Amino acid sequence: MPTSLVLERKGELSLRDLPLEQRMGPADVRIAVRTVGICGSDVHYYTHGKIGPFVVNAPMVLGHEAAGTVVEVGAEVRHLKPGDRVCMEPGIPNPASRAAKMGIYNVDPDVTFWATPPVHGCLTPHVVHPAAYTYRLPDNVSFAEGAMVEPFAIGMQAALRARIQPGDVGMVVGAGPIGMMTALAALAGGCARVYVADLAQPKLDIIGAYPGIETINIRGIPAADAIAEATGGWGADVVFECSGAAPAILGLPKLARPGGAVVLVGMPVDPVPVDIVGLQAKELRLETVFRYANVYDRAIALIASGKVDLKPLISLTVPFADSIAAFDRAAEGRETDVKIQIELPA
Ligand SMILES: [Zn+2]
Repeated sequence: MPTSLVLERKGELSLRDLPLEQRMGPADVRIAVRTVGICGSDVHYYTHGKIGPFVVNAPMVLGHEAAGTVVEVGAEVRHLKPGDRVCMEPGIPNPASRAAKMGIYNVDPDVTFWATPPVHGCLTPHVVHPAAYTYRLPDNVSFAEGAMVEPFAIGMQAALRARIQPGDVGMVVGAGPIGMMTALAALAGGCARVYVADLAQPKLDIIGAYPGIETINIRGIPAADAIAEATGGWGADVVFECSGAAPAILGLPKLARPGGAVVLVGMPVDPVPVDIVGLQAKELRLETVFRYANVYDRAIALIASGKVDLKPLISLTVPFADSIAAFDRAAEGRETDVKIQIELPA
């Protein structure tokens, strides 16, 4: 039995053997996992034992941001072969579902998603996955970058929802990993420049190092004042809420230009007040994002083209044997850490 990183219960991780159901179907591939990013949700299950209605009631393998190498393909698989380097989309919809038929498989009520109880994740040596949700990495895209596709896909989904037009001014509230991914996707999606607001200067320094990104430290100036100053009082064309913070959400209408768009990406833990009249007075278009659908190919293409470089966001890479220490560090939430990745033996 393989050794996996197992969340035994809230606050308790172990590296141990856990029997996993890994039967291959004809449309599946078996993948030797190589690199896995630690996500805020993994850490939240570790520290809180639940996210909303999803409660860890039994030992669960963590991890959903993965890249690896195909080692076996099912009889019906045509586009992949053993030896291919790949990354995997962690959500598996029911292909016959109404949502999947509509192309919105991310909101399929039947979707199963890695490391969302009771579904096991990918911090284990091998996974079996539908080939349709497994994507070949171009030679110039590393495993580490491949494991960044999952969080970047959320930024891609946000950029698509925003319906960016060339030359738009973007604004991202919150410089966590998803805020950073969203800012980069918005730039790649056509924004002339993107302003990123946060109160943690180390985070702003990391994302502000990218050309086209300007930063706003809201300890020094309210985000609304800063964006007004930057846009002659007009506001940003597209605003991405990536903080999940109640005061930020209340202040969103002030950031957008009349007729602009607001995209809700961050997830507040509890319901929060929204300034509806503020939204109405500018006829703002409100969009929401839940994970992503049909963006992996685009995300990989942008990374391979060099238009999006996610490597500076990989703060630390640790060997699988040190996974628990890596989770403890991620739980510290250091302001200089964006993405911590775990590397399994080749
Ligand atoms: Zn993630």
